[in-house]
Amino acid sequence: MTPLLELRSAHAAYDRVTVVRGVDLAVDAGEVLALLGPNGAGKTTVLRTAAGVHPLAAGRLLLGGRDVTGAAPRDLARAGVCLIPEGRGVFPNLSVRDNLWMMTFTGRGREEVESVAYARFPVLARRASQAAGTLSGGEQQMLALARGLATDPAVLLLDELSMGLAPKVVAELYEQVAEIARQGPAVVVVEQFATSVLGIADRVAVLVRGRIERQGRPDDGLRKDLATLYLGST
Ligand code: ATP
Repeated sequence: MTPLLELRSAHAAYDRVTVVRGVDLAVDAGEVLALLGPNGAGKTTVLRTAAGVHPLAAGRLLLGGRDVTGAAPRDLARAGVCLIPEGRGVFPNLSVRDNLWMMTFTGRGREEVESVAYARFPVLARRASQAAGTLSGGEQQMLALARGLATDPAVLLLDELSMGLAPKVVAELYEQVAEIARQGPAVVVVEQFATSVLGIADRVAVLVRGRIERQGRPDDGLRKDLATLYLGST
């Protein structure tokens, strides 16, 4: 099967400082890949290169087997790559409904965007008129996911979804993410602290200082290695 998303020997830098060093990643349709690693390992930068928001200094980006290296973020978004950044990227002063209605640029009608969102996250329907900034952290993350889903993504890139949220809320959100992946998209989830995402990940890649040090299924061996890799990097 051709992976939906693939990075080959990806390098990325800020000015002249290389922070991603030869990363190979491939994610299939319906698969959840957890990209884990300590603070500053380069996880966010990898996601940003996959969305075209940060340029590759070297290496290739492929989408469904097609080489899209150097494509503009807008073109990658049109091709189905959806990045939900850390901090969620919702508009705090706009209502939940307005945040959703903004997504009609995708060609979907207002009702459709709303009904898809509310079907997955019923609490958003009850908060429709409320300013997004007044939602709980978990609800804001739901809204961010709902906005992403409105683009009908082929590839969903989630950065630190768990940030600042209670474990129970994170577990519920990850259940939804697993459900979303079952419907087709390739999903990459970046997390610094692993526990909750391991439950839904099909595969785990551990990034340390810009390199993938370990990749595999989230079994006991990998869990053990995670601890060693994290401790070894501090
Ligand atoms: P975190 O979990 O802390 O977000 P991360 O694994 O996502 O870490 P990145 O955010 O990708 O790591 O950062 C990788 C390295 O690149 C870090 O050393 C960071 O300081 C550096 N870096 C990130 N963004 C910039 C930037 N805009 N300018 C310069 N250096 C940056």
